[in-house]
Amino acid sequence: MLWSGWGDPAKARELPDQIRTLLRDLMGVGEPVEAVALEEVRLPRPTLSPAALVELAAVVGAAHVRTDHESRVRHTRGKSTPDLMRMREGDASDAPDAVVLPAGHEEVLRVLEVCSAHRVAVVPFGGGTSVVGGLVAGQGVVALDLGRLDRLVSVDTESMVAELEPGLRAPDAERLLAEHGLTLGHFPQSYEYATLGGFAAARSSGQASAGYGRFDDMVVGLTVATPSGALDLGRAPKSAAGPDLRQLVLGSEGAFGVITSLRLRVRRRPSATVYEGWRFETFQAGSAAMRRLAQEGVLPAVLRLSDETETMIGLARPEAIGSGDSGCLLIAGHEKDRGAAAAVLAEQGGAHLGAEPGRAWEHGRFAAPYLRDSLLAAGATVETLETAGFWSNLPRLYDAVRLTLHAELGSPLVMCHISHVYETGASLYFTVVTNQGLPEWERAKRAVNEAIVTAGGTISHHHGVGRDHSQAYAEEIGPLGVEILRAVKQRLDPQGIMNPGVLIACPPPSAG
Ligand SMILES: Cc1cc2nc3c(=O)[nH]c(=O)nc-3n(C[C@H](O)[C@H](O)[C@H](O)COP(=O)(O)OP(=O)(O)OC[C@H]3O[C@@H](n4cnc5c(N)ncnc54)[C@H](O)[C@@H]3O)c2cc1C
Repeated sequence: MLWSGWGDPAKARELPDQIRTLLRDLMGVGEPVEAVALEEVRLPRPTLSPAALVELAAVVGAAHVRTDHESRVRHTRGKSTPDLMRMREGDASDAPDAVVLPAGHEEVLRVLEVCSAHRVAVVPFGGGTSVVGGLVAGQGVVALDLGRLDRLVSVDTESMVAELEPGLRAPDAERLLAEHGLTLGHFPQSYEYATLGGFAAARSSGQASAGYGRFDDMVVGLTVATPSGALDLGRAPKSAAGPDLRQLVLGSEGAFGVITSLRLRVRRRPSATVYEGWRFETFQAGSAAMRRLAQEGVLPAVLRLSDETETMIGLARPEAIGSGDSGCLLIAGHEKDRGAAAAVLAEQGGAHLGAEPGRAWEHGRFAAPYLRDSLLAAGATVETLETAGFWSNLPRLYDAVRLTLHAELGSPLVMCHISHVYETGASLYFTVVTNQGLPEWERAKRAVNEAIVTAGGTISHHHGVGRDHSQAYAEEIGPLGVEILRAVKQRLDPQGIMNPGVLIACPPPSAG
């Protein structure tokens, strides 16, 4: 993975000439911006005591405690646009002092014991794809890389449950499950690099959520190592035995402990998925069609509707709707008979565009992050944000986010799509391109967070809270909600070593 950007450098995408022209002539995007060389990245001076390093090495082995320049750089922050912009400038001031790689649950527990004793903060690190400031380390902090917890532990094909370790990257998990004819069906855009533990810790949702549900829907059980000991949760598919503590861990972003094992619902791999495109006159008409599909229970596995701007710009599919044509593109991916869904889409005014737009979407479904790298290199600021709300409130949320972005950023390009739908509502996912720099973007993001809260949306449908959303999250759950989470953290993590600052703002580890 590129340390200063996304993914495999060999898959880098050249910007098409039309986009370069659009950026320069219409948006006033300035000069290309080169990333510094890896050796030039500036790291903070480590402050971890030699005694702590020796004790950590005694737990995981000296080879699995890394303090070299590249390891620290590669575990600095996540992959949001501000993260990447800072990294491209050579600013790794939030780098961990060391990267620790445990091999299993018991080692994680012992690492947490050592870190509690030495008051060393721990940032669990999965695939490193957080876009909400979930991986901020700094002096005296270690990154706990879960990459060695990468096994498929067991498969129960009678219950359709598989136990997997959290450090497995999504493609590796799919490959291991495929040997049993199974799939998770979880394909977020960060699929290539994100891990199962990260999906659970940040409540991820993938491109096939209409058919397979969100990641948290798939978790039937999990094991967590905390500084206060282990939790093993989930012994039946559903239970009336009190509040469901699994829900306290899902979305906890490493603030309470480390997920060391996941029991996940799996499904048989589909024999084929048929993708197709539909055109709707307006975003409103397309979203009404999606609502009917969700409420009538005839959802395809993949369902995604681009608004007019996203359709036009062709981040959706340039070849699907010819240039100059208006309308909104909907992509549907069917694993079962498409008849019922197609009938609803046609009844709602959709025009069938055939298989080509679907095929093109499938071909480019993981390509957008590579395009972002090229846009950043060209001097543009491009970032995404997301929210969710009930159907009746969705137009208000859509307008609130767009108006705020325009008010804050001058004339940005704002695109939106819906790709996660429920009977009661949906998420809105925005992509913003602007000629403004990082400080202006960060100010705009704060304003959008406030606008989302005011318009009654959630601060995140699937990216999580991290540090970037902690203030808005506090408003969303209220002071009593924050106090409850603090009390849980205090019980599980009395020294406050677990990923301080994410989820709920809290003081750094106590000085003892
Ligand atoms: C280009 C791009 C596209 C994206 N697309 C999507 C998308 O389509 N859908 C989506 O849901 N998200 C998406 N994301 C966001 C991100 O991929 C998800 O939040 C994902 O769940 C993070 O997984 P990860 O393994 O990279 O976790 P990390 O980024 O390493 O960690 C995320 C958070 O979880 C904590 N954590 C990680 N592992 C554990 C563990 N085992 N135990 C406890 N805490 C842990 C970390 O400390 C951190 O706070 C995207 C991100 C990028 C950069």
